[in-house]
Amino acid sequence: MDLTKYSHEKVSDHVIRVVDALDVAAYLIVGEERAVLLDTCFGFGDVKAAVEAITPLPLTVVLTHGHCDHICGVDCFDHAYMNLKDMPIFEEHRDVAFRRDSLVKIHGLELDESEFRVIPDGILEDLPEDTVMDLGGVTLKLLMAPGHSPGSLVALIEEDRVLMIGDVCDDNVLLFDDHSSNVSGYMAALQRIRDLDGLYDHVLGNHGAFVFKKEIIDNVLECCRKILAHEDEHILTNMLGHTLYSACAVGDDMLRLDGKQGNVLYREDKAV
Ligand SMILES: [Zn+2]
Repeated sequence: MDLTKYSHEKVSDHVIRVVDALDVAAYLIVGEERAVLLDTCFGFGDVKAAVEAITPLPLTVVLTHGHCDHICGVDCFDHAYMNLKDMPIFEEHRDVAFRRDSLVKIHGLELDESEFRVIPDGILEDLPEDTVMDLGGVTLKLLMAPGHSPGSLVALIEEDRVLMIGDVCDDNVLLFDDHSSNVSGYMAALQRIRDLDGLYDHVLGNHGAFVFKKEIIDNVLECCRKILAHEDEHILTNMLGHTLYSACAVGDDMLRLDGKQGNVLYREDKAV
């Protein structure tokens, strides 16, 4: 496998999905005057060169949260923005030994530590809550949605009616470690995004099929309600070394057996 390859595909008037060799997506939002790269994938090869081959516009890099499959290409750039509530996660996840171990757990891929580039100190600047960026003819709204991590955000482009949801909502939302919110805190943050429902038609993710039905948000909210009422399926699951419970029954492909999109994998103490 050539880990340095990137592919890309236009997904709306102003949005291009950039995908790394490990099937993690970043999103490039291109206005008339500038562009934003939302996330930087696992960080092999040169994601900056891949993006500059798509657009010559001045580029701002924004990270949706601090996990290693979103941040590790950041060293290609002079600096990037992230809500610094995720700084403790970023510090843990930029560590080369941690990244090496994660690739073994996620992909069964054993690499030498020399194959990972080092992310330098001081590369991040704080992204204030609910930042709005005018890119020229298109406006990017970066909205906080803590839960999966304390600094997690989603990106809304009303002109394209597109919501890029990061890991805030997914086939399997992870509330899995000390940094994650409990279910009620996450549910309140997700409900705030649900309340913007009239502003988007398309929900784009960074993993799996990358495209979700809008209903995924309602489905995940329903999972949260069931967890809090102790009415979920509560199936013991091991994920990335964490002992978790799955709100819904899933198959070997980790997709719901009832065919709906959206599930929550949670640590037992998060079920409040
Ligand atoms: Zn994540």
